[in-house]
Amino acid sequence: MTSVVTHDRLGRPLSNLRLSVTDRCNLRCAYCMPEATYTWLPNPEILSFEEIETLVDRFVSLGVRKLRLTGGEPLVRRELPTLIARLAKKPIDDLAMTTNGVLLTEHLADLVSSGLHRVTVSLDTLSPSRFKALTGRDHHAHVLAGIDAVAASPLRAGLKLDAVVIRGVNDGELVPLLDYAGRVGAELRFIEYMDVGGATKWSAQNVVSGQQLLSAIAATLGPAEPLKEDGSAPARRFRLPDGRIFGLITSTTQPFCRTCDRARLTADGHWYTCLYARTGVDLKKALRSGQSPAELEQLIASVWTGRNDRGAEERVALRDQRGPLAGADSLRADPHLEMHTRGG
Ligand code: SAM
Ligand code: SF4
Ligand code: SF4
Repeated sequence: MTSVVTHDRLGRPLSNLRLSVTDRCNLRCAYCMPEATYTWLPNPEILSFEEIETLVDRFVSLGVRKLRLTGGEPLVRRELPTLIARLAKKPIDDLAMTTNGVLLTEHLADLVSSGLHRVTVSLDTLSPSRFKALTGRDHHAHVLAGIDAVAASPLRAGLKLDAVVIRGVNDGELVPLLDYAGRVGAELRFIEYMDVGGATKWSAQNVVSGQQLLSAIAATLGPAEPLKEDGSAPARRFRLPDGRIFGLITSTTQPFCRTCDRARLTADGHWYTCLYARTGVDLKKALRSGQSPAELEQLIASVWTGRNDRGAEERVALRDQRGPLAGADSLRADPHLEMHTRGG
């Protein structure tokens, strides 16, 4: 397969694809899916594995080299390891998955043999009761068991843990989470609480900024030194005086739009060039209407070369006018605005 690099209007390459394989989830995180009921994507609209593979091939030939499976919860998609095994045959440098970890133990052997390169597990708290309050489900022990299973498997080298920090909820757990990550051999990334998708209860007061996180960590563990970074990675990495490394994803207060090389494909084939974009491109429609591989590539390339998105930077510019991006009514009317549809 020949490959070109496709750049947008700000010179950012199309090199990273987040592939949401389902909008369904077995948790109900307060910052992502806080409502009792949701408008789900209809089943006939969900891309088959063949369709996913066809679209991934188009992105790969336009320069994508990093692919992350996400959701919803990717492990609730049936036969996911079969899809991963097919994607693992593509010329992809980094094939990763973000999961809430609930079903990891059950699927780990298949994931290892599928050829997946890396796993990131979301873990916001070490407290079972806080986990239940935050996610609406009593699955904390399953998540910890899943992390232990990865830590004892061939996937241990790439294990990362992601924690969304919310003021007054889990901001007292920064050092315990770092200690836990160290025990299981994972790199921990703290994520600022974002105002997008199902974060309908978001307010600036609930955000613990990257700067505040660094100060709070320094108060116990000493100052963290910034590491030299890969230009497009969302996390800025730091080293503690004791040598431990952790990351900060400061999408809310110090976004990284200037180097953003990420495209997002929803489980029903809608393509978004920004997490904050109001509208996307219906690639499934183009695919199912019989467009050829060359036509699909032309469509994707024309959208990316016109891309000018800086969604998170525009949110920062709102300053004290900033609130949740979308209310519950608009999310019900268009589930494509949801974080669990776009894949985070
Ligand atoms: N279900 C999987 C999981 O939770 O890891 C994958 C999908 S989830 C949408 C991807 C990531 O988005 C998770 O790490 C989650 O914590 C993060 N996320 C969801 N809503 C968020 C918000 N309002 N602010 C910051 N991160 C958020
Ligand atoms: Fe939580 Fe991920 Fe599910 Fe959203 S998709 S509710 S972040 S587990
Ligand atoms: Fe990229 Fe949009 Fe996120 Fe900025 S807000 S980093 S442009 S996805």
